[in-house]
Amino acid sequence: MDIKTKIAFTQNTNSTLSNVNFNELDFGKYMSDHMVLSAFKNGAWQDASIVPFGPIPMMPTILALHYGQSVFEGMKAFRMKDGKISIFRIKKHFDRLQRTLDRMCMPPLPYELFEESLKALIEVDKGWVPEKDGSSLYIRPLIFATEERFGVKISEEYLMIIMTGPVPPFYPKPLRVKVEDRYGRAAKGGTGGAKCAGNYGGAFYATKLAREAGFDQVLWTDLSDELYIEESGTMNIFFLIDGKLITPPLSETILEGVTRDSIITLSREMGITVEERRISSNEILQSHKAGTLLEVFGAGTAAVTAPICAIGLKEITIDLPAYDSNSVCMKLQQMMTAIRKGTLADKFGWNTVVG
Ligand SMILES: *Cc1c(COP(=O)(O)O)cnc(C)c1O
Repeated sequence: MDIKTKIAFTQNTNSTLSNVNFNELDFGKYMSDHMVLSAFKNGAWQDASIVPFGPIPMMPTILALHYGQSVFEGMKAFRMKDGKISIFRIKKHFDRLQRTLDRMCMPPLPYELFEESLKALIEVDKGWVPEKDGSSLYIRPLIFATEERFGVKISEEYLMIIMTGPVPPFYPKPLRVKVEDRYGRAAKGGTGGAKCAGNYGGAFYATKLAREAGFDQVLWTDLSDELYIEESGTMNIFFLIDGKLITPPLSETILEGVTRDSIITLSREMGITVEERRISSNEILQSHKAGTLLEVFGAGTAAVTAPICAIGLKEITIDLPAYDSNSVCMKLQQMMTAIRKGTLADKFGWNTVVG
């Protein structure tokens, strides 16, 4: 491999790969043997190293723990039909990471450092990429503030870690979601459009209440009288109404999903009209009454598309028609899988092939 960045490598002499039962994967159950580390200090990102996956020493005073400068990405690598490995849309994930870093006053990351160290990591741990259809290697880049200081300030030191682990196919049973009219995930002018750790912690409470009320997830809204829909849990959201696919437009309260972008591209490719516009709760209810609301689904890296079977809107429950292999959300899911496996042409250059 042509590596421009210097990457030191320490082999893991206690590989746990032989303990993995690839037929019984679970999200987050197994971590691959190695991880990438790169530190930012004295105003610069240091050369990356690949080391055995394991604990990292830290002082209780590191700023990330106190003031929340911590950001992440979630991406995937797939075993292709010819045995090689494809990493999905590295540049698109990187661009979002860069915007997130900027929003959190964290230093920009050189693209070569990210791409080269990620590719080298996947190459080293290629035995961890599952072969079974739909399974994949989940990739978690994480960057957080490591300066040891009590005072509230922007950290001058950071650590980037890239870790991976094999995950099974994610076919959620259709979700029941609740239109949230009390709690918000993202405030106007806030950090909802950035992939930072705090957005998740702040969203747990409403999700917990929704679960207690018999739902799987929250449909986040702008909390205005019209309850314009923003996202579903930790996914973007799509509505199929009257043959058109509708998704809320990107804003500082909506995270720019890579899956969202891929779905918009593939849908247009399939000849489906896609509208990026606001959609109110009343429009959902009215289109349901008119019989034109056919599909609602979440979109994110974990599931690709996650069909929604019921929407709770105040006292009303909107039940959606059943899904089958002809549903748009299922077709999109199949297309994405085929592109990543190399059984459908990668027209848009989304795969980075290694191995
Ligand atoms: C990561 C994330 C998504 C989905 O983004 P993908 O790139 O498609 O995985 C959607 N919403 C939120 C809040 C997220 O954090």
